[in-house]
Amino acid sequence: MEPVTFEVAAGITAIDTFYGGRERYTAAYLLDADEPLVVETGPTTSLEPVVAGLERLGVAATDLAHIVLTHIHLDHAGGVGRLAARYPNATIWVHERGAPHLADPTKLVASATRIYGRDRMTSLFGPVEPVPPQRIRALVDGDTIAFGQRALDVIATPGHASHQVALVDSRTGAVFTGDALGIHVPDVPVLRPATPPPDFDVELTVSSIERIRARARSVLLFAHFGPIVEIDRVCDLAIARTRAWTEVVRDAMRRTDDLDEIVALLEQEAARDAETGAEAPIDLQRFEILSSIRMNAMGIMRYWRKRAEAEASQPPS
Ligand SMILES: [Zn+2]
Repeated sequence: MEPVTFEVAAGITAIDTFYGGRERYTAAYLLDADEPLVVETGPTTSLEPVVAGLERLGVAATDLAHIVLTHIHLDHAGGVGRLAARYPNATIWVHERGAPHLADPTKLVASATRIYGRDRMTSLFGPVEPVPPQRIRALVDGDTIAFGQRALDVIATPGHASHQVALVDSRTGAVFTGDALGIHVPDVPVLRPATPPPDFDVELTVSSIERIRARARSVLLFAHFGPIVEIDRVCDLAIARTRAWTEVVRDAMRRTDDLDEIVALLEQEAARDAETGAEAPIDLQRFEILSSIRMNAMGIMRYWRKRAEAEASQPPS
């Protein structure tokens, strides 16, 4: 398969990872500098498209200096072990809470297998291999990754995942958003929240989106998928959609805790987002694979249960 690469900002090129064999689902990004740096790897099933993309962009096996992950969910980072082996000089950067799971992915794989099942684990992600611990650098909020005449500022953006970070490019002001705002695919004016278990938290999601908005100077670079220049519009939309989905589930949980029933209500809410009529069946499928309504329902239900438990254990004031 021919690699697909396209420039999204000065010295930043998107590489289509062909996630699960599909075009325009998940991007990795190469940042041009003395020390070439890649943001996101895709899963192990994306290894060849990513390597072919890097070869086309002139990055040889010994050249790649850095691999930075927004978070360790397998669609973003499942391939990092194999990619690290292919690029032996690259340092691997990830939030400190994600770092232990790169060195030993056993728990990560077990929890993803509970959510996706064994068959989809194999078809979507492939094997997940460890990264040698001495090659991993743990990140915290406020860190800077310098790589030649360019740097990435690290912003902690919990909400979708507790260990997620966004990255601000010093040269362009572009921000790599991971899944902090949800899923926004090209040519479809729909934003689907990404609220999976076990970490989803609506208040943290909203404050993380505001942190991204405050730092973005040019373009948001979504992992799913590509550049968005209308920063305020898409931040507003992401907050509104996430709140709407969260509230639908909270209201439903007052009457039922049946997952199927709640999924059906959330499907109605998702359809409301498609009132433009732009969602072709293919695009709905893309959203379902990247961020299924069932998984989102599970994440939001878990969030409200945790909230209720925390409130119940508070002493009365
Ligand atoms: Zn994710």
